[in-house]
Amino acid sequence: MLLESIAEKGITSPAVLFALEIVPRHWFVPISFTLEEAYADYALPIGERQTISQPYTVAYQTELLDVQPEQKILEIGTGSGYQAAVLYQMGVDLYSIEFNKVLYQKTKSLFQELGYPIHLFYGDGSQGLSAYAPFDRILMTAGTVQVPEILLQQLQVGGKLVLPVGKPKMQRMTRITRKKTQVFDTETFDLFSFVPLRGKYGTK
Ligand code: SAH
Repeated sequence: MLLESIAEKGITSPAVLFALEIVPRHWFVPISFTLEEAYADYALPIGERQTISQPYTVAYQTELLDVQPEQKILEIGTGSGYQAAVLYQMGVDLYSIEFNKVLYQKTKSLFQELGYPIHLFYGDGSQGLSAYAPFDRILMTAGTVQVPEILLQQLQVGGKLVLPVGKPKMQRMTRITRKKTQVFDTETFDLFSFVPLRGKYGTK
């Protein structure tokens, strides 16, 4: 049901649909939700005033990211860990950073339990993760008014950054490709509503 609804909304990548099919979303939502709610196509609160993204949104961002196995990827905004698990299932080397300590700790112990070798960090992802740069792909799962320049510099040449850009209520999904060392190409897509990016280059 969930997969059909996502495919109907326009997601076509078999790798993305497969990853969404095999990651059990109910592991990533608070226990108080029913299974039906865990597998419905909408965002849910995960505590700390944050949300687990709608499955369609996860699929949309993942498709735009154009993931290839073995790539080194940075996710900004680990949250529940659901998006991270979807990326991990696609065979990538995943780094994910979360600004909220409670969520970071919760998701870290969940990944330990599941045995997922995802590199999790607690810190300000608006500044990227320079110690581990460059990345083939960077995915931001919080909305930002401006694209943090520092993230562009942490992309490999040929690398892509996918992020929602715009005012707090509504952001335009944006993909920036680092064509050459200092040549960037920007593409824009549909409108979404994400929780705001915090930290040094986010909304204060
Ligand atoms: N990818 C998550 C979506 C979580 S919502 C999931 O699959 O569940 C966005 C997350 O971004 C929130 O957990 C929020 O705390 C986090 N966030 C906001 N600003 C951040 C920053 N500067 N660095 C890292 N994480 C940030």
